Amino acid sequence: MELTAARDQVEDLAPRLTKSIDRLDSLNHGSIQIPARIPGPGPLLMLGAPGVGKGTQADSLKKLWGVPKISTGDILRANVANGTGPGVRAKRIMERGGLVPDEIMTEMVADRLGLTDTVPGFILDGFPRTILQATWLDGYLIDHRPGDVLGIINLCMDFEEIVERIVHRRVCPLCKAVYNIQFKPPKRTGKCDKDDTELIQRSDDSLDVLRTRLDVFRKETEPLLQYYRSHSPFIQIEAAKPPSIVTEAIVAALTCFRTPTN
Ligand code: AMP
Repeated sequence: MELTAARDQVEDLAPRLTKSIDRLDSLNHGSIQIPARIPGPGPLLMLGAPGVGKGTQADSLKKLWGVPKISTGDILRANVANGTGPGVRAKRIMERGGLVPDEIMTEMVADRLGLTDTVPGFILDGFPRTILQATWLDGYLIDHRPGDVLGIINLCMDFEEIVERIVHRRVCPLCKAVYNIQFKPPKRTGKCDKDDTELIQRSDDSLDVLRTRLDVFRKETEPLLQYYRSHSPFIQIEAAKPPSIVTEAIVAALTCFRTPTN
């Protein structure tokens, strides 16, 4: 898509953003009804620091819309577990909390986006994380999904609160369900509710590695906020609320973007 055309499209969407902010305000003061039929999301990406709840929100939106969640962290972990070439290269970097090289990431995402289930839309979780990845994604969308507007959800939370959440996070290695031993414990201590598998703590969720991941986020990924503020519909959501309230806020804001106004 031509840059001018894209800019026109974004300008066209600006009044709807004002409307969505009004709706979000009303969410803070009362409840908002999610429409029975929610328009599909098209291409959507979740931004936010590690541990802010991107994966949980992407899972909820996936259930609502039936479009795939594409988590680069999950794809990498599967590659590490299977000992693939990229997995071997990524393992040490991930254990230390660093970022896997852009060329590995873009190749993985291109492969995943090439599958047919992404046609109605998709939710990117954990990608892009660098400006290079973001410009690559822009190019990919222009080439493969001309006319589609990328929706950006930016989840915000105080870093200390993130630390508090993440050190208590446990995951099921089999079905990937996520628990929090303080706020959302499993029914049986240490066991997944769905398949009874022993829950584990991700090795990069230890306090030391998490601090590095948050530093890397500040340095490498926060500049993306500036990049996207001027590029796309940009929806900022306070994430330190119960997950279902955060989902409602995201859906309300997206509904304003995706539904034509009268
Ligand atoms: P996540 O599950 O999103 O927290 O990702 C876990 C780890 O995978 C990160 O700490 C990075 O080491 C790596 N990773 C995931 N996504 C990316 C990406 N888009 N770019 C570089 N590294 C990534």
